[in-house]
Amino acid sequence: GYSTTSGIPGVRERTLVAVKPDGVQRRLVGQITQRFEQKGFKLVGLKMLQAPEEQLSQHYHELRRKPFYPSLLHYMTSGPIVVMVWEGYNVVRTSRIMIGDTNPVEAQAGTVRGDFSIHISRNVVHASDSVEGAQREIQLWFHRKELMDWDCCDHSSTYQI
Ligand code: UDP
Repeated sequence: GYSTTSGIPGVRERTLVAVKPDGVQRRLVGQITQRFEQKGFKLVGLKMLQAPEEQLSQHYHELRRKPFYPSLLHYMTSGPIVVMVWEGYNVVRTSRIMIGDTNPVEAQAGTVRGDFSIHISRNVVHASDSVEGAQREIQLWFHRKELMDWDCCDHSSTYQI
């Protein structure tokens, strides 16, 4: 069915979060997912996959000329990843704050990268960095049918309506 609880502008914003291969290897999928659940965001898509290089090159298109690009692709194809779509008010910006600075050296304690990683080459997690980027990335990694439109029973305890 279709969600009826969309009264507040921006409540249907969505972002793509991915647990990278090191995060899966280190069994951090549960803890990372838990942070987004306990924050109050709504999970609308989730799957595990071996990322195809073609999809990754589209995902990281803007970084294709960076010196670290080849090693980034090697890293991201080194094992399965878990991709998820989270929905809620200001979810794109809030998720970036929750995952912390790209470089774990700069990432604050309490963020995913700050708590679970040391080096920029193995920083455990991805989150879209803009609303437009999120829309592009969600389309890249998910079929429309894989995104669930459902009502959270505690919606009115999270939002005004
Ligand atoms: N990365 C890296 N070395 C660098 C910069 C980035 O290995 O000097 C990797 C790192 O995994 C990072 C990803 O490339 O998460 C994408 O970089 P971006 O600048 O888009 O950061 P993000 O959006 O992931 O925070």
